[in-house]
Amino acid sequence: MTTFKALVKEVLLPRKESEILLFHAFDCDRSWFYAHGDDPVTMPEATHFFELVKRRQAGEPLAYILGQWEFWSLPLTVTPDVLIPRMDTEILVQWGVSLLLESSRRRCLDLGTGSGAVALAVKHEVSGSEITAVDLSEPALSVARANGRQLGLEVEWLWGSWFEPVRTRHFELIVANPPYIRDDDEHLHQGDLPAEPSMALRAGNDGLRALRELATEGQASLEPGGWMLLEHGWDQGSDVRNLMADNGWQAVETRRDLAGHERVTGGRRPL
Ligand code: GLN
Repeated sequence: MTTFKALVKEVLLPRKESEILLFHAFDCDRSWFYAHGDDPVTMPEATHFFELVKRRQAGEPLAYILGQWEFWSLPLTVTPDVLIPRMDTEILVQWGVSLLLESSRRRCLDLGTGSGAVALAVKHEVSGSEITAVDLSEPALSVARANGRQLGLEVEWLWGSWFEPVRTRHFELIVANPPYIRDDDEHLHQGDLPAEPSMALRAGNDGLRALRELATEGQASLEPGGWMLLEHGWDQGSDVRNLMADNGWQAVETRRDLAGHERVTGGRRPL
């Protein structure tokens, strides 16, 4: 016999993580835990909690163990088929939302949507927006579609490589959080990254494979004056600004994430 509080302390994980796993295992929340922390728990009752702890200790991301992760205050289902949404990406949403709100027509294309995080956040924020989201991974698209259904947000989900499924169409805004990590970056072997889909992370020797393609092809899918916003690595700002400027984008500018790193570069298709 032990208690809920003792269980949290007993396992070798950061306290916050063991609490989150305990809440998940016992289907309770923090306020319940404060009221019942000293209640007795038998070892058999704690079996599920110990299993979750073991998975975490073996390196499985918390988000995949919980099966749910929050982005832009929206609860999203996440599985190993999708990248775990990051706070860094909220700047992409923020910028995209402000551009769409200024536009009378509000068609937005999200490329490499993964869990659907960006597409759904924009849809949630901008009334009258028409969102199309593309991914090359069918399993990722089913996660995204399920997220849309769960949140009651309508998005057009299309399978394909970047612009392929929308070749003849035009949008006011394109947003993307594409893969942008160099193949030899050690960061790929750290933290949650080894468990995440490599196609959502790796982008060739220079990390710019996807960003280059988007910068080259983006204007053909935009209305004149439309914007494209690209998330990238903290050290890729000048590379992406050059890629966009070389491909005729105007008003090219980079914005920083909450940590102060250059994170999203955008440009406008000339009128
Ligand atoms: N920002 C993620 C990371 O560095 C990578 C996401 C991506 O490649 N799109 O962990």
